[in-house]
Amino acid sequence: MIDLRSDTVTLPTPEMRDFMFKAELGDDVYGEDPSVNQLQDLAAQMTGHQAALYVASGTQGNLISILTHCQRGDEYIAGQQAHTYRFEGGGAAVLGSVQPQPIPFNERGELDLNDVRAVIKPDDHHFARTRLICLENTQAGRALDLAYLSEFHEFAQENGLATHLDGARVFNAAIASKVDVSQIAKPFGSISLCLSKGLGCPVGSIICADKAFIDEARKWRKMLGGGMRQAGMMAAAGIFALNNHIERLASDHENAEVLARELNELGQLTVTQTTNMVFISLESGTFDDLRVHLLDHGIMISDDRLVVHMDLERDDIVKVAAAFRSYFE
Ligand SMILES: *Cc1c(COP(=O)(O)O)cnc(C)c1O
Repeated sequence: MIDLRSDTVTLPTPEMRDFMFKAELGDDVYGEDPSVNQLQDLAAQMTGHQAALYVASGTQGNLISILTHCQRGDEYIAGQQAHTYRFEGGGAAVLGSVQPQPIPFNERGELDLNDVRAVIKPDDHHFARTRLICLENTQAGRALDLAYLSEFHEFAQENGLATHLDGARVFNAAIASKVDVSQIAKPFGSISLCLSKGLGCPVGSIICADKAFIDEARKWRKMLGGGMRQAGMMAAAGIFALNNHIERLASDHENAEVLARELNELGQLTVTQTTNMVFISLESGTFDDLRVHLLDHGIMISDDRLVVHMDLERDDIVKVAAAFRSYFE
């Protein structure tokens, strides 16, 4: 099967499995798992932060970060389509009594700073306390503009807002922007990144921040049931991925470019490509028909978003383009 539904479907390579098998283990709730500690140190060093915390998922990483930044009755500003607002079951509101204030992303995946300014609440007992602002990078595959990011941080500082980056795919952003990941990650008060997206790890995410923040985040992790004992078995996959699977993301972006070009040439679709994602809109027919046709050709899609990842080769991209061609013929 060629699976284009998401980059979460990537599997550990034989080398990664071998590395996991040999991982040194201990009880991470006591802080004694050497592999978890090594992964956290590596992630902190790569992102330019003081400390890091291994967590079960990206959703847990974002939730813990919001709970650590905010108190009951605070609010966080996030994109209308942001994972932290739309796709996490309302966790911050349910579990933290933290209110979201969503605003639309612009066409570059940014929160327009004038829009943000308009929703910051005055210091008045009628209002929730605006405490935190969350960005996403990449956002729907779009790497945020570096100049925007520096304006954003200046703005947050001027307005006394804490900052969190949902960096589920921050390495894709760094590769696309041709900068070290620390340049993107370091200015944020906290960042969560996913090891389970496009990097081959079976599970896991990491929060990076300063030491005091991570100490507080560890309490929330325990409370949420995320203290995972001999988690080094899984964390080892993260160490392997951070050392071996980051640079190669560039070839996913190239494959996505090739796929977009081939699909565009069919003249039947509107196609846009962002890092490892290709978005299509059909000019006629339905997605259901297309999905069934592609499945007959061993290709899985879920919606208008085709996601390219490390378990796909250039040959697979060629096969996908051919299956689309046969559909339109
Ligand atoms: C996938 C994703 C997450 C959460 O990841 P899970 O590990 O599935 O909980 C968070 N933010 C963004 C932008 C994502 O794409």
